[in-house]
Amino acid sequence: MRLQNRHLNFNYTALVYAVAGVLLIPFSLYHVMVADPLMSVAVGGAAVAFMMLSVWIYRRGHVAPLFNAVVVATAITAVLVSIHELTLVGVYWAYPLVLVFYLLYSFRIAAAINLGFLVVVTPVLFMVMPIEHVLRIVSTLLLTSSFTFLFAHNLQRSARELEGLAMEDPLSGAGNRRQMESRLDEAVYLRDRYGLPCSLIVLDIDHFKRINDTRGHLMGDEILVQLTELLRHRLRQSDRVFRYGGEEFVVSLPSTRAGAATRIAEKLRARVASTRFPGTDQLTVSAGVAELRYGETQRDWLRRADAALYAAKLAGRNRVNVATADTTFPDAALGNQAV
Ligand code: GH3
Ligand code: MG
Ligand code: MG
Repeated sequence: MRLQNRHLNFNYTALVYAVAGVLLIPFSLYHVMVADPLMSVAVGGAAVAFMMLSVWIYRRGHVAPLFNAVVVATAITAVLVSIHELTLVGVYWAYPLVLVFYLLYSFRIAAAINLGFLVVVTPVLFMVMPIEHVLRIVSTLLLTSSFTFLFAHNLQRSARELEGLAMEDPLSGAGNRRQMESRLDEAVYLRDRYGLPCSLIVLDIDHFKRINDTRGHLMGDEILVQLTELLRHRLRQSDRVFRYGGEEFVVSLPSTRAGAATRIAEKLRARVASTRFPGTDQLTVSAGVAELRYGETQRDWLRRADAALYAAKLAGRNRVNVATADTTFPDAALGNQAV
């Protein structure tokens, strides 16, 4: 799907099949050495099939759950046959099998498959070896699966925490630039695909440098935190606040046209102007509003909103200005790239 972040999705399934294919090659050669051509061809064929599957899965990006289910059933059957035929030596394969499910499935499903595997492998073990071996093998398989379950669970929790940290501005708790880009990308997709409108407000504190210079950076930080709180409280649940730069915020307003977005921006501006922030008698903000146009890129959309904000600053600050279809920075209009 287009909206997924490709860098974060590693194709473990393709890798598992590639490793399985490579692993079978020495066994095919072994059967050549012990003059068992039939087994050599069978194992070699399986190795090639696994590697071709790997390439196919890699190119497709995903496989249907049923496909994996068939492969899982085949692998479990192969291990059961191997234990039945080779007894103790065949058990070696059971351990990587228990682990590989954690790469192919979520940890809960993998644990469930492993329990199922233990249920079917236990009677086979009883058929071919004494009870003291069976007890040890079942216990160590259970331990291997349990430890991997805990490991996978821990990993998922850390991944979730990291994702939160990677998407949030640590000072204000607003979404950071990365989260903003991903959200706006989604809005561009929904606009072009389904015609859903979306507007954004770029909001910048007026003369913030003065406050920092006279009251100190810590007081400035406190204002940024309180302003974020104010913005969040005044918006709908589907709206999002992002910290775009130092004292510049972006508010995304899905399903909102320019007129409504301008009224919202005006309300926010008035609210900020009438709120007392620490260390200053009056804080004001200027805002630029832009509705996403059909076929417009995120960059151009932001640039129009920014240009509208710039015009609001020029017009005297503490005001809202809405971008039209051809709003640009004055310098850009003259062909000067330094904007
Ligand atoms: P304007 O009305 O034209 O926007 O003037 P301004 O002073 O707000 O704008 P300018 O871009 O000149 O200065 C922005 C200031 O924001 C500079 C810096 O002191 C302050 N700032 C940026 N990031 C932070 C931050 O994380 N914490 C604090 N306390 N201040 C910041
Ligand atoms: Mg400013
Ligand atoms: Mg600024």
